[in-house]
Amino acid sequence: MPQDLFFYNTMTRTIDRFEPSDGKTVRMYCCGPTVYNYAHIGNLRTYVFEDVLDKTIRLAGYGLKHVMNITDVGHLTSDADEGEDKMLIAAKRESLGVLEIARKYEGKFFEDTKALNISRPDVVARATEHIKDMIEFVKVLEEKGFAYLSNGNVYFDTAKFQGYGKLSKQDRSDLKHGARVEEDASKRNPSDFVLWFTSSKFENQILQWDSPWGRGYPGWHIECSTMAMKYLGENVDIHCGGVDHIPVHHENEIAQSEAYLGHDWVHFWMHGEFLQLKNAKMSKSSGSFLTLDSLIEKGYKPEHYRYFCLQSHYRSQANFSFEALDAAKNTYENLTAKIVELKQNPIKGDDENVLSEYIAKFDDFLFHDLKTPQALAVMWDALKTDKLSNDSKLKFLLHADEVFSLKLDEIELPKNQEEIPSEVRELANERLKARLEKNWQKSDELRDAILEKGYVIKDLPGGKFELSKAN
Ligand code: AMP
Ligand code: ZN
Repeated sequence: MPQDLFFYNTMTRTIDRFEPSDGKTVRMYCCGPTVYNYAHIGNLRTYVFEDVLDKTIRLAGYGLKHVMNITDVGHLTSDADEGEDKMLIAAKRESLGVLEIARKYEGKFFEDTKALNISRPDVVARATEHIKDMIEFVKVLEEKGFAYLSNGNVYFDTAKFQGYGKLSKQDRSDLKHGARVEEDASKRNPSDFVLWFTSSKFENQILQWDSPWGRGYPGWHIECSTMAMKYLGENVDIHCGGVDHIPVHHENEIAQSEAYLGHDWVHFWMHGEFLQLKNAKMSKSSGSFLTLDSLIEKGYKPEHYRYFCLQSHYRSQANFSFEALDAAKNTYENLTAKIVELKQNPIKGDDENVLSEYIAKFDDFLFHDLKTPQALAVMWDALKTDKLSNDSKLKFLLHADEVFSLKLDEIELPKNQEEIPSEVRELANERLKARLEKNWQKSDELRDAILEKGYVIKDLPGGKFELSKAN
C-alpha cells in the first residue's frame, strides 16, 4: 500500500491529500528547459525540486511516469509571445544553426542534471519532433471556436475560455502582458497568445513547417499541452514548473488543454520558488548568470549545490551567496567524514525499532509537502543519537539518499584502510566491544590476534580506532 502524500496545490492554495487518479501510477509533467543557453543555477534549483518530488513519490510506493519537454522552437523573449525568438538570438550570437544551438544546450543541460544526480525523466520530448501533433491540436481548437487567425498568426481567444486566470487568481482583464514590449495589435484581447506563428513574424526563422495556416512554427505554450496529452492522456496528476510560469505559461496551458478536452485537466499544480542572486532575479536571457560549471571551476562539487538546494523548502525563495554555498559545502563534507567514520567502525545493534522510527519521521517530512530542511535535520539527529548503532546509521543514510541523492553510497574508506581484510576489521570491532564492556583481558588478547595477522591497532578518543599494517 502506498503511503499518504500531501502537497501544496497552487490551484487551491492549500496543502491537499494527493492521490493519482488511477490510485497507482502518478502522471507527472514538468516544463523543460528552453535550450538556447546554459541552464543557470536557478533553473537547476527547479529541476532539483522536481527530482525530489519524483523520488518522494516513488519512495511512497507509487509508480510514476515523469514527462519533460525540451523547448527547441517557439519561445520568445517575453513569455507572452512578444519580443524576439530566443533560439534565433542564440544562433546569431554563436554563428550556429538553431538546431545546433538546441542540441548543444540540451546536451549540456543533461550533463548538468546528471552531475546533480537528477534522474532523467521517463519521457523527454522535443518540441521539434511533435509538430504534427501540435498542428492537430490547434485544428481542434479552431474547430471548437477557440482560435482565430490574425495577420498570419493563429491566436487563442482567451475571452472564449471561462476559466482564464484561475491558477493565478487574476481577472482576464488584469492579465496584460504587453508592458515590457510593444502590444501585439493583432490580438483581440491582451491575454490572447499565439498557437501558430507564420513566417510573417520571423522571416529568418529556419525551423518552419507547413500547416493549414501557412508555413511557420508553433507557439511555446501549445508544446506543453500537446506533449503532456500525448504521453499522459487526458488527466495529468501533477504539473510542475517554476513560479514564473504561473501567470502566463500555465494559464495558457490550462486554457488550451481544457478548451480541447472540455473538462478539467491537471489535478495538482506544483511550483518551485526562485533562486535569487543578491535579491535580483537570475535571468538566462540577460546573459550574466551562474552555471554549475562556474561553481565547479571554483572548486565546488555538484553535491555541494544539491545540498544547498535541500536546505531550503522548494516553496521559499532561496538567496544564493558563496558564503551560503560554503556553509553547505562544509556541512556536506562533515557528512562524508561521518560516513567514513561509521564505515571504519561497523558495529551492529539490536535497534531495528529505533531505526524504523527515524525512517518514519524522515519520510513523514517528505510526504508532507517535501520538507527537505526538516528531513535533513532528522538525518543529523539520527547520526548523533546513541540509540542507533553505526550500521543502522549507515542504513538510515542509504534510505535518506534515495531522495537526497547526494551520492552517499559512493563514499569510500581511504585507500589504505580499504585493504584491511574483513577478518581483521571484525577482530577490531570485537575488541572495541570488549573495551566498551571494560573487558581488558579480552581486549589485549584481541590486540595480539590482530598483530598475528600483521596489523597494529591504535585506540583513538571517543571509542574509535585506527588499523595499519605492522612493519
Ligand atoms: P527556462 O529554460 O527559462 O524555460 O526555465 C527552466 C525552468 O527554470 C522553468 O521551470 C523556470 O520556471 C525555472 N526558473 C527560471 N528562473 C529561475 C530561478 N531564478 N530560480 C528557480 N527557477 C527558475
Ligand atoms: Zn510548459
